[in-house]
Amino acid sequence: MLLKELKCPGCGAPLKSKERDMMLACSHCGRISLYADGKVGDVAYSIAAPADGYSGELIYVPFWIVNADLNVRKETISGGKISRFISDKRQMRGTRDFYVCAASIPEEFCREWNMELTLDQPVLNLISSFKGGKRAVMTMEKGIAGENAEFLFLRYETEIPGTLQKLEYDFKINSTKVLYLPAYKTNDKYVLGISHE
Ligand SMILES: [Zn+2]
Repeated sequence: MLLKELKCPGCGAPLKSKERDMMLACSHCGRISLYADGKVGDVAYSIAAPADGYSGELIYVPFWIVNADLNVRKETISGGKISRFISDKRQMRGTRDFYVCAASIPEEFCREWNMELTLDQPVLNLISSFKGGKRAVMTMEKGIAGENAEFLFLRYETEIPGTLQKLEYDFKINSTKVLYLPAYKTNDKYVLGISHE
């Protein structure tokens, strides 16, 4: 992809991307901009520190963090009510960050990460550079991330025991930003290695 017309919003140098990465790093000043709808713009992003003790190649995986209010107005379930009640320790309700993996990484890993991270919000140590690793290519648009956050909630609701008969809810997105989480790649397997100290 050659983006002839696009210039770094920081220094004005032309921006290029070899892959489909929507996060474009300026080769002149290092600033990262978001490429969307044929334009480059500023983007807020953070980088989480990697944990020690993992083997494999360190890769920083981009996620869209969709902060949203989730208000369930009405829910009717038949059967499995008791088991649902018992397993309701991790509720997907209220205001929270929805983690939506935005990288071109096999779906099996993204699906699991999205659910686990959204249910058990990790405590992160942030760092200022992609130390010791490289960035994974970001391929998902912001708007799609919002839809995927809502799908994540619906998947969660349908996977817990009992038959979901009625679900009325409001899903309101407050903000969306980019977060890079460290993962370690061995052969074709990815394992998140987030520092919690
Ligand atoms: Zn620049």
